[in-house]
Amino acid sequence: MGITSAEDKVDVDVDVDVVVVGAGGGGLAAALAVADNDRSVIVLEKLDRPGGNSALSTGSIPAAGSRLQIEAGIVDSAARMAADLIAQSGPHEAESLTHRLSETSAELVDWLVDQHGVQLALITDYKHVGHSVNRLHAPLSRRGIDLTDDLMRACKKSKIDVLTGNPVVELLIEGDKVIGVVVEGDRVERYVIRANAVILAANGFAASSDLMAKWLPEIELIEYFGAHGSTGEALEWGIELGGYLANQHAYQGYAAVAYPHGSILSWTTVEKGAILVDQTGKRMGNETIGYSGFVADLLTGTPPYFVLYDSRIRDVAMKEEEFADLVQIGGAREYQDLAQLCDHFAIELQELSLTVDHYNAAARQVSPDVFNRTDFSMAPLEAPFVASRVTPGVFHTQGGLAVDLDGRVITRQTNPVPGLYAIGGVAAGISGLRGGRGYSSGNGLLSALGLGRLAGLAASQEL
Ligand SMILES: Cc1cc2nc3c(=O)[nH]c(=O)nc-3n(C[C@H](O)[C@H](O)[C@H](O)COP(=O)(O)OP(=O)(O)OC[C@H]3O[C@@H](n4cnc5c(N)ncnc54)[C@H](O)[C@@H]3O)c2cc1C
Repeated sequence: MGITSAEDKVDVDVDVDVVVVGAGGGGLAAALAVADNDRSVIVLEKLDRPGGNSALSTGSIPAAGSRLQIEAGIVDSAARMAADLIAQSGPHEAESLTHRLSETSAELVDWLVDQHGVQLALITDYKHVGHSVNRLHAPLSRRGIDLTDDLMRACKKSKIDVLTGNPVVELLIEGDKVIGVVVEGDRVERYVIRANAVILAANGFAASSDLMAKWLPEIELIEYFGAHGSTGEALEWGIELGGYLANQHAYQGYAAVAYPHGSILSWTTVEKGAILVDQTGKRMGNETIGYSGFVADLLTGTPPYFVLYDSRIRDVAMKEEEFADLVQIGGAREYQDLAQLCDHFAIELQELSLTVDHYNAAARQVSPDVFNRTDFSMAPLEAPFVASRVTPGVFHTQGGLAVDLDGRVITRQTNPVPGLYAIGGVAAGISGLRGGRGYSSGNGLLSALGLGRLAGLAASQEL
């Protein structure tokens, strides 16, 4: 049970206006928004360091109409962004959130950059999955840790306490209102913090094998490459208080985690013309549906899997630090011809040669692509070839508690659960009803930081 009644015998130690549970990108953004309104806030993090999944991500946040986008001369609008996201996700149970997060996305990025000194640049090299214009904003390094480090610096400047190693184990309630949290851990004696509002920013449940088996059995056996803290307890607290789950069978996968290195093999390679093949030398589908959606296609092949590209494409992707590191440690080797490549990876040469011939013919517009791919960018592929062994992974879950447009947890009768907010991976995502196909790049951080800022503003304004 994750709920403690206020009548239970617990010592009340601290009183603040707002408690934030979880120090990932969403929780830190929520705390900054509360502090901006001159309200007291504390962030509790169960692990020994802040950052969560946000620190492992590429830090890409989509925004339509940001200052950086306008300065780059890119014409965009919230309506276009929402239409793009819904075209990718299909209809789902949180479409009003898609609109709300698109409409407030420019404010979010401008606020992070101009008010809180978070260093983001507009990505103009690629648009990535689900976006019809360049609207992803990311640290220059494309490393989420730079984003969360900047957020931590901003929190310090705003005098926000972020307590690591302090797991929230229960919510404290009085009547039907959430009035605080109970904290207890290996190195922390049980204590209570009372607050007017609690913002659950503890991410989803991908690190819990029990909850994955219960809610996402179809990908239960795919390896999770995110942070260990995403164990789903916050979703269960919300349900106990009358909340309900929406878009619960959706997730973000990634079809190309470099193996055995464990880093993200940049999808820029695919967008610039790479294909994915299996051990028999065959492709499994149209790769341009995106890195998340392609997980299901990949699983129809015979493992191990490979991304096949060429030295020109490798050189373009080298601008990205994580990819450059992968090249450095031997995760993207060059081969003079397909025979040498097949010999190294034990791939069937005859079949792979046919696959590349057919794909190159499609790229030259000699014949249609067998999987109806129409975007070939720098293809046809040519020697010297480059190949990386990859494995599919789950990055985070997309289902969560149904919330209103400011992140308040709501019941099926659409009444808010008093004092309780959910954001990021705890809240219903905007990536479709089920599966991995509906995920557009940046949906995760948009739900975390975008809804975090809105919840922080709402919680502090309600006081
Ligand atoms: C490899 C990878 C790449 C990704 N790339 C991108 C990208 O470029 N763009 C994008 O939009 N999304 C990306 N994502 C998804 C994105 O990282 C997540 O959607 C996002 O970070 C969620 O933010 P959050 O604040 O909700 O959760 P997190 O950043 O995970 O933070 C939640 C925090 O809560 C803590 N916590 C959990 N339970 C408790 C508790 N009981 N008490 C106290 N603390 C608790 C956790 O330890 C954690 O630190 C990526 C994910 C991965 C794994």
